[in-house]
Amino acid sequence: MSHNVRVRFAPSPTGPLHIGGVRTALYNYLFAKKHDGTFILRIEDTDQNRYVPGAENYIIEALNWCGIPFDEGPGKDGGYGPYRQSERKDKYFAFAKKLIDSGDAYYAFDTAEALDNHRKEHEEKGKTFIYNWHNRNKLDNSLVLTAEEVESRIAAGEDYVIRFKSPQDETLDLYDLIRGDMEIDTNILDDKVLYKADGMPTYHLANIVDDHLMEITHVIRGEEWLPSLALHVLLYRAFSWEAPKFAHLPLIMKPAGKGKLSKRDGEKMGFPVFPLLWKDPNTGGISQGYREDGYLPEAVVNMLAFLGWNPGTEKEIYTLDELITDFDLEKVHKAGAKFDPEKTKWFQQQHLQQSSDEEITKEFTKVLHKHGVDEKQSYIHKVVTLLKERAVFVEDLWQLGDYFFERPTTYDEKAVKKAWKDETPEILTQLSGVIAKIDDFSAENASNTVKTWIQEQELGFGKVMQPLRIALVGSMQGPDVFEIASTIGKESTLERLRFAIEKL
Ligand code: GLU
Repeated sequence: MSHNVRVRFAPSPTGPLHIGGVRTALYNYLFAKKHDGTFILRIEDTDQNRYVPGAENYIIEALNWCGIPFDEGPGKDGGYGPYRQSERKDKYFAFAKKLIDSGDAYYAFDTAEALDNHRKEHEEKGKTFIYNWHNRNKLDNSLVLTAEEVESRIAAGEDYVIRFKSPQDETLDLYDLIRGDMEIDTNILDDKVLYKADGMPTYHLANIVDDHLMEITHVIRGEEWLPSLALHVLLYRAFSWEAPKFAHLPLIMKPAGKGKLSKRDGEKMGFPVFPLLWKDPNTGGISQGYREDGYLPEAVVNMLAFLGWNPGTEKEIYTLDELITDFDLEKVHKAGAKFDPEKTKWFQQQHLQQSSDEEITKEFTKVLHKHGVDEKQSYIHKVVTLLKERAVFVEDLWQLGDYFFERPTTYDEKAVKKAWKDETPEILTQLSGVIAKIDDFSAENASNTVKTWIQEQELGFGKVMQPLRIALVGSMQGPDVFEIASTIGKESTLERLRFAIEKL
């Protein structure tokens, strides 16, 4: 098996890709890579009414950003293309026709109006109208019409659909890699439309035909498709095709309460539910994205991998390669996975700490440019090493350490009230004299010199160090004050002391 694994991610381009969709793509990717298989992107765009321009590009960009690019798909032909269903339109009718010829499907002429009336009549009697075995022989279809009638109505241009003829009185055994064995009574199934009046296949037909033609071995998709499994298995049987294996992934649930995680949850609680920022082409409305919010793709991927799966060990921080090794479809949970925005931040913080100082320096340089700061890489690198452990996002480094790049212009009031005493200007003036004489201005040497001086003068550390920090930083924050002094340099340190003495 392991050579021929072919899986597909098959989104419909109806808007930005929800993180639930990204997780589906990720699990497909991990499974494919684990088995040296092929990860395919197929765009399911048969429903032209729901097509949203830009959505396909968004999907591709999101996969690339996450580091899980497809092997085959639009623009990357692997011999099974085209990969957009709208470009495969001409393939589907012949398959629908095949099922008609084998007696597994039939033409139905019932108008929307007629079906509506049936529905209403049923509702009035407290029943639900289902188009299937128990009434299909009373409706307007080729099961009751003669072959000539059917032919002439089609020739006359009447609208028709092709419906699947679900079997009666059968118990169907279904198997899912995550959920195990399931039984379905076929009497509850309706005769789903396979081919529509507009000359397009429905999702069900196109999906099965394409999975077959693309030689898909495993269908890994969201739980919302579980109710379609019986029909899909029946379609494979009707075509006498070998069905792929199925795995239906658990839903991603709201952080609190019941139900699926929605866009609204994110808006209410201020976290993104999309990988990338999305601008709605119709309304112009903006939805937050993980990328633009400063998350590392590694963190997002790690977080998503754990929404519905874990290795059964204590290990939580994973690289993509490690995920490929440890991921196991059969260990995916059945129960819905609660989305946790705080945990997502934790993954981000952990992955940022794991990033190399060089990478962070590169990203932080961009942030600095946005703030109009241009500095030497070695200097920025030094700042990164001092501040990194306090940061969750690269952007945080600016709030944490803007004073490394510009002299504080304001001073934290509370800190000043607490630490700036009448004698402070005098002490700092003396301190400046001590500092001015230090030749080796390394953090260590500066620290030793100043501390010795404090002890000799019997001044008390707080009286010197706190005002010094206020002068350099503007507040009581930051790493070791001598690291700061040494980094900004002797001249800047003295200048900041002068400025603070004058200002405060
Ligand atoms: N087009 C379906 C979707 O949008 C694909 C479902 C499947 O993977 O079969 O999710």
